[in-house]
Amino acid sequence: MLPAEVLAQAQEAIMAYQNTGMSVLELPHRSMEVAAMISECNALTMELCELDDNYEVIWMQGGGRMQFCMIPMNFLADNDTAGFIDSGFWAEEAFSYATYYGQVNLLATSKAINYCRLPEWPKEVSDQLSYLHFTTNNTIFGTQWPEIPECDVPLIADMSSDIFSRRRNYNRCAVFYAVAQKNVGIPGATMVAIRKDMLDRIVRPLPPMLNYKEHVKEKSVLNTANVFSIYLSLLMLRWIKAKGIDAIEKENADKAKLLYKAIDNSEFFKPHVKYKADRSLMNVCFTANTPEIEKNFLKLCDENNITGIKGHRSVGGFRASLYNAVSLADVKELFRVMDAL
Ligand code: PMP
Repeated sequence: MLPAEVLAQAQEAIMAYQNTGMSVLELPHRSMEVAAMISECNALTMELCELDDNYEVIWMQGGGRMQFCMIPMNFLADNDTAGFIDSGFWAEEAFSYATYYGQVNLLATSKAINYCRLPEWPKEVSDQLSYLHFTTNNTIFGTQWPEIPECDVPLIADMSSDIFSRRRNYNRCAVFYAVAQKNVGIPGATMVAIRKDMLDRIVRPLPPMLNYKEHVKEKSVLNTANVFSIYLSLLMLRWIKAKGIDAIEKENADKAKLLYKAIDNSEFFKPHVKYKADRSLMNVCFTANTPEIEKNFLKLCDENNITGIKGHRSVGGFRASLYNAVSLADVKELFRVMDAL
């Protein structure tokens, strides 16, 4: 979802962007306006993540999967090893993409229990690893790491489905990235934050388009940037800042609490993640006790304008994604419909 006021601002910018006499859709990617847009996005990211001056922020294309490729291309040499925590489908994808470039070590996984819990974080991590990759929120299975752990090797995090949803110690990561289409905007742009020292650790010659250092040097316009997606991210970042990250965090916690309570107390549904400390505040996954209930609930949702509630095929049932723009009132409406079953 996008907030109504963000949609209204986008609509206005489509007709005329500031005093340029152009639509935001017509702006040249090397114009002053786009440079200003990107620099404000970077400043807001730094501020909202409370990053120190050691980070660079870039906006790229190719989505999450492109990062799954670029991270090992840039940071994992053929004979070196990277560590992975497998907490769900996307974490496993990141792991399997890395096998094309170097050695991989699966340090923890909860695949055998269909990811209904977080795996145990490794007690010790070898300092020989080039980096450790993990996924902060598991979009499909509805688990989320409550903290970013401290780590002696560079920690790289996929934060695609929970960035800007709560206060976090982002400075513990050497690199973190997020696709825009969940908490930050629309498909097209991917935000990457890189600690500067990582730019001196690039392990192989790469064409500029695949090299983080070149994207940093070119200030996110090495190639024709996806201006509209970046602009939507800017509007979302301003919206998040205006609301305040603490207020967002509180509302996200209230939304999830309401829904988990409804599921835990229900005679019709059960949660996919029973262990409460591992539960995601962003994606609440639950199943119906019988196929009949599943069918009836889907119909009821449809009649009440609740869309996109069907769960991923690997979990079945339902998934309520409570990204930042979903309000507590929206969740109360879902609660009302569940109660009416
Ligand atoms: N990581 C996570 C946590 C995701 O949820 C997703 C997509 N839902 C991806 C990566 C993949 O993103 P993309 O489709 O842009 O490759």
